[in-house]
Amino acid sequence: MRFAPSPTGPLHIGGVRTALYNLLFARQHGGDLVFRIEDTDSNRFVPGAEEYIMEAFRWLGIDFDEGVGIGGQYGPYRQSERRDIYKQYVQQLLDTGRAYYAFDTPAELEAKRAGHPNFQYDAATRMEMRNSLTLPKDEVEALIGGGHQYVVRFLIEPGREVHVHDLIRGEVVINSSILDDKVLYKSADELPTYHLANIVDDHLMHITHVIRGEEWLPSAPLHVLLYEAFGWHDTMPRFAHLPLLLKPEGNGKLSKRDGDRLGFPVFPLEWHDPKTGDVSSGYREKDYLPEAVINFLALLGWNPGNNQELMTRDEMISLFDLSRCSKAGARFDYKKLIWFNHEYILRRDDADIARAFQPMLKEKGVEAPLDKVTAMVGLMKGRVNFVHELWDQASYFFVAPTDYDEKSLKKWWKDGASIYVSELCDFIEGATTFDGAALEPQVMEWIASKEWGVGRVMNALRVTLVGAAVGPHIFALTDFLGKDETLRRARHALAVLPNV
Ligand code: GLU
Repeated sequence: MRFAPSPTGPLHIGGVRTALYNLLFARQHGGDLVFRIEDTDSNRFVPGAEEYIMEAFRWLGIDFDEGVGIGGQYGPYRQSERRDIYKQYVQQLLDTGRAYYAFDTPAELEAKRAGHPNFQYDAATRMEMRNSLTLPKDEVEALIGGGHQYVVRFLIEPGREVHVHDLIRGEVVINSSILDDKVLYKSADELPTYHLANIVDDHLMHITHVIRGEEWLPSAPLHVLLYEAFGWHDTMPRFAHLPLLLKPEGNGKLSKRDGDRLGFPVFPLEWHDPKTGDVSSGYREKDYLPEAVINFLALLGWNPGNNQELMTRDEMISLFDLSRCSKAGARFDYKKLIWFNHEYILRRDDADIARAFQPMLKEKGVEAPLDKVTAMVGLMKGRVNFVHELWDQASYFFVAPTDYDEKSLKKWWKDGASIYVSELCDFIEGATTFDGAALEPQVMEWIASKEWGVGRVMNALRVTLVGAAVGPHIFALTDFLGKDETLRRARHALAVLPNV
């Protein structure tokens, strides 16, 4: 298998899904996955894109067996470094009459197009053009020898049925007459085009299965014809074209604009456009866990058939099945991804989440040791969808309240609340233990002996510790804060809140 992006910008989230499906299929079948860079179109090359793609895969844990940055016995894996390899294959097609030289200049082609609105370079028109089929042999040689720029075009025989056997779509048949004589090679940069390089490399790298996006389906008949022209028909990879990713709502394919409008990224990592300076948001920077993104993407266009949604990587590998991939587009339900993120926060180790949260705490001016942050995470992670939300949910673990929620005061800071808290402070101070598990029954017994309501006493205390009537189990919180801080907060509230 291979994933073969062109470094034309940041990797779209749909490309990540494609890479993931290749990975799952390869791992399931004990195959190898190649990372190849298809950079033969120098006009579309964007600096930084290749590094971006590699970093995105590192973050997501999509690991390749060979390729750019890894090595392997079929390298180099960057197409711009394989010029010499392609030349002999272009020559093979020329020698066998499956391709020809064309000398038409861009201006000539433009003029032709202006005259014929549906102009296509094909069997119907090629004999009106300047190419090695129409020019005398010695003129062709003179042009090439004289350093004239040319392209090599694939000679497509019209009126043939071309069959593409797609593992998701079944058999797709098109008539070769609708295809044009695609440019396979350009003398100007001495590079093949995508189509030729893609086929030659898949062949040389022994690719057996190609899983790619639906946008490549129109190229598939051409690719089949190329395999045939090379005589490689028997070892042609099996194709599977994945369905499009659709907008979260409405019709049409997912676009960056949908993301901007609804507030979700369409790229794995943040991308800084080197030309425009524009910044596009990324899942990593938006605080998504990579395993949540992976699990979400795995189910965009495939399902294991048993309603299971949460899956480990190993489960995905064993359950993945191309025959359960849908032909219909997959709706990009970004809210579902938020749910996955929540679920994976629950499944992650508390200390791991704590390590991710520590820098966010630091940004808020709080330096807390890992064990304290981990303890907080254990109590609070069930309440958040994103790690950064822990600040809103739990800042009071680290910072004493300075003001108190209006509604909570109204509800709980009345009818003896200040007396309860003040006497409770004295009781706690004199108790033999401060350990929550032991202290709790003692406090309960003491409240009962006073014939006070537990809810009224404990909520009054809670407001003094938290600043509002929210938070975890109160004795879990006092354990976290410790005796001094608990008493300090309660007594501070008594000093600044009205006596009631
Ligand atoms: N280089 C193509 C891309 O950018 C690869 C298409 C294919 O997988 O054949 O997606």
